[in-house]
Amino acid sequence: MSAPVIPLVIGDKEYSEASDGFGESRNPATGAVVASFARAGEKEVNLAVSAARRAFDEGPWNRMRPFERARIMHRIGELMLERRDEIARLESEDSGKPLRDAYWEVDCSARFFEFYGGAADKLQGRSIPLGPNYSDWTVREGIGVSLHIIPWNYPFQLIARGVAPALAAGCSVIIKPATETPVTAYEFLKICREAGLPEGQVNLINGRGSLVGDLLARHPGVDQITFTGSVATGQRVMEAAASHAIPTNMELGGKSPQVLFADAEMEKALPIIAGGFLTHAGQVCNAGTRLLVERSIHDDVVERLHQHIQSMRLGAGVDDPDMGPLINTSHRDDVERYYEVARGDGELLLGADVPSDTALAEGAFVRPGLVIGASNETRIAREEVFGPILTVIPFDTPDEAIRIANDSPFGLVAGVHTTNINKALGLGEKLRVGQVWINSFGVGLDVEFPFGGYKLSGFGREKGLEAIAAYQQIKNICIHHPLS
Ligand code: NAP
Repeated sequence: MSAPVIPLVIGDKEYSEASDGFGESRNPATGAVVASFARAGEKEVNLAVSAARRAFDEGPWNRMRPFERARIMHRIGELMLERRDEIARLESEDSGKPLRDAYWEVDCSARFFEFYGGAADKLQGRSIPLGPNYSDWTVREGIGVSLHIIPWNYPFQLIARGVAPALAAGCSVIIKPATETPVTAYEFLKICREAGLPEGQVNLINGRGSLVGDLLARHPGVDQITFTGSVATGQRVMEAAASHAIPTNMELGGKSPQVLFADAEMEKALPIIAGGFLTHAGQVCNAGTRLLVERSIHDDVVERLHQHIQSMRLGAGVDDPDMGPLINTSHRDDVERYYEVARGDGELLLGADVPSDTALAEGAFVRPGLVIGASNETRIAREEVFGPILTVIPFDTPDEAIRIANDSPFGLVAGVHTTNINKALGLGEKLRVGQVWINSFGVGLDVEFPFGGYKLSGFGREKGLEAIAAYQQIKNICIHHPLS
């Protein structure tokens, strides 16, 4: 059976052929083609921007009562849960992630639509006192056409994360998925349509980022960009946005520290630390890839992590293994090069043995890496690998732990593991990151509170009520009304 063709979706039309030919998406565990997709060029970019503009300027979304918009958004969330099995399987095949993580993505995506659907009729302005004979108030309006450029690691969830607050704010949307993972974006579009979202409110443009991503980001009909991806591409997108002076939300990379004190509850902390760098084979922006461990427990912790990692089962995502493959063999080669970097920077205890048994040899698999003896100044401790490598660095005092944790070009999240409240709160205060997790590293479907970075990890906030501000203009209206 030939692989399905994923069309572009622009306004009320689907385009199974487009200006830039076709691309293919492959299952990273096997190399098998999962789908092919029509690749847009300039013509389709212009059509998509026109459709989104029309929807924003003239379409029904901004003429509906907010509670009516909220109902459609809730329906989108319900449909995601109704189609949970199908979407999770498609996502697992396309991205390689274990099935349970793909289920998490769908559940989390539904939560975004519940959460922001709940907010859609509560986006209020305020009145500002100016004294007698004046009335002044603010109005929050949708910012316009919002472009969402998506990476390949959590395609479905990252679409929902940005699109739900954008719709709640009244925006129309263009989605540009990563070339590696186009499959579930189309499912998202189908669900939006089925839920009754007006035509053109959400449009789908697949294609090469360097071509259509750039054209979209520079297009004068786009009013705002939410970009999630690497620092280098994010900087290019910022330049494109600067060319017509529009705001961007940048969700970029990380090299997040997990700080482990000797007084922590080790049985609870170690699985959290392992999950923090092994989830989706480390291809997570907020992966906790630097473990700062109090020197007195360093050797014991390394030994226990070593045992844990060695027993891990690798396999295809749909078989729900402990860890799936990387996104493709080219990225696998990049990660393997970091094993060499790690050997130069310190001692690589695990990670060199790329599986050679036949089933795994077909795919983009690596074994997780554990690095000791590398200082925080080395490349392996500073660069984002986007693979399952943990660098373990000892510290002696809380102040030293803070200094090392903050000595990074990134500042996305941090974990702190301790039973001492003073250390927990002290680190919470002093760590220069967007989220501090104490005795945890994620709470499951964490959509309610803000997420985003300091430093090279980006700016702007996703999730929580804070995310909505990126998709709104604030207009002030002032009336002078003297009685006589
Ligand atoms: P990437 O290479 O930067 O690509 C991200 C997106 O940008 C893709 O859709 C890509 O399209 C597109 N793109 C490429 N060149 C472009 C250009 N010149 N103009 C506009 N768009 C362009 O990132 P990735 O490798 O997919 O993802 C990994 C990175 O994402 C990591 O650094 C990770 O930390 C970060 N990330 C951050 C978060 C967060 O919330 N902070 C979440 C997830 C991932 P093509 O695929 O067609 O090239």
